[in-house]
Amino acid sequence: MASQSSTMRAQVLEKFNTPYVLKSIPRPPNPTGKDILVQVQAASYCHTDAVFASGAMWQDLPRVGSHEFASVIVEVGPDVSPSLKLEVGTPVGIPSRAFPSCGVCDECGNNDGDPESYGVYCTKAGNLGLSRDGGFQEYCIVDSRQVAPIPHGMTAVDTAPLMCAGLTIWNALGQAKVKLEAGGGQGLRIAISGAGGGLGHLGVQFAVKLGCDVIAIDTGEKALYLLKEIVRDLGPLGSKVTIVDAKSQAAEDVRWAVCGKPEEPALEGEKGVNGVLILPESQQALEYGVKLLRNHGTCVMVSFPKEGFHIQPRDLVFRHISMVGVLVGRNRQLRAMLNFAAQEGVRAKTTTYSLEQLNELVDDYHKGASGKLVVDMSK
Ligand SMILES: [Zn+2]
Ligand SMILES: [Zn+2]
Repeated sequence: MASQSSTMRAQVLEKFNTPYVLKSIPRPPNPTGKDILVQVQAASYCHTDAVFASGAMWQDLPRVGSHEFASVIVEVGPDVSPSLKLEVGTPVGIPSRAFPSCGVCDECGNNDGDPESYGVYCTKAGNLGLSRDGGFQEYCIVDSRQVAPIPHGMTAVDTAPLMCAGLTIWNALGQAKVKLEAGGGQGLRIAISGAGGGLGHLGVQFAVKLGCDVIAIDTGEKALYLLKEIVRDLGPLGSKVTIVDAKSQAAEDVRWAVCGKPEEPALEGEKGVNGVLILPESQQALEYGVKLLRNHGTCVMVSFPKEGFHIQPRDLVFRHISMVGVLVGRNRQLRAMLNFAAQEGVRAKTTTYSLEQLNELVDDYHKGASGKLVVDMSK
């Protein structure tokens, strides 16, 4: 490939709790092995970027953030498998994990159908944007086995927020026993706590389009407004969503209003939602969500507050409620999620910024801007 310039623009975090610094840094070298070189087109900001920038995760700086981005392949490494159908010019979405994966551990060997010797859950895995430089730069080296080709009709800005937020919430629905294919949620009722946030508003769309009935829970004007917009955009399917303001509506009232209250108190365990996804880092959100579950229901934790959650083992013992967690997902799940989003019209509500405006984006994030905030490299 003819290299136009040996340097590129990048937003670099040099010290924790300080703004990113726009710099000119060397362009990545030609890709080796199974790696590919991509030109970034859009890069989305995730809550984890904020956590990293506070110094609460990896300690190695300087770092280029963003672990959910979209790009076009510029150069393909010599050992990239032709079966992946990745060529120069192919548009691809890129998640954080795993770069690199070790290729020899049990996770890399037994990877549930992902590309050979590649483990998203490799215990030695690094993460783009966290332990390696990510998407807030013009070019990036990534692993050919971690990416997903962008389906026709999806833009880079559409794709980027799905690479962490979209994949995580898609798999959270799977953990709540929704079958992840068209109609797979038929007959299931799912509650999403924090439904008006970045992950939540994608979760509402995925759940409804998979066939679920949804209780979309949040608090605050911005989040509830975003939910109303999502319901409006869903058209007739919007009737499958019940928006709940957790500040003014008690969990018990919501449960009986939506699921029906049985005449005999002994039968109450039969009525409730099948699964609840907990997105806020809040004990109240967890307790509220668990109260909505029917017996044998599943509570899926996506957030992981530093101080932890207090749980009631009696919910697990007497109501047979399961509690599980979710961390992004495998490559085959990433591809399935992206194809489903393209076909069914699942899109994040985005606000876009130029690469130069990244610190403005971060300020807006901390002020509670709704939807997903995305750097659009074409701006
Ligand atoms: Zn993320
Ligand atoms: Zn490994």
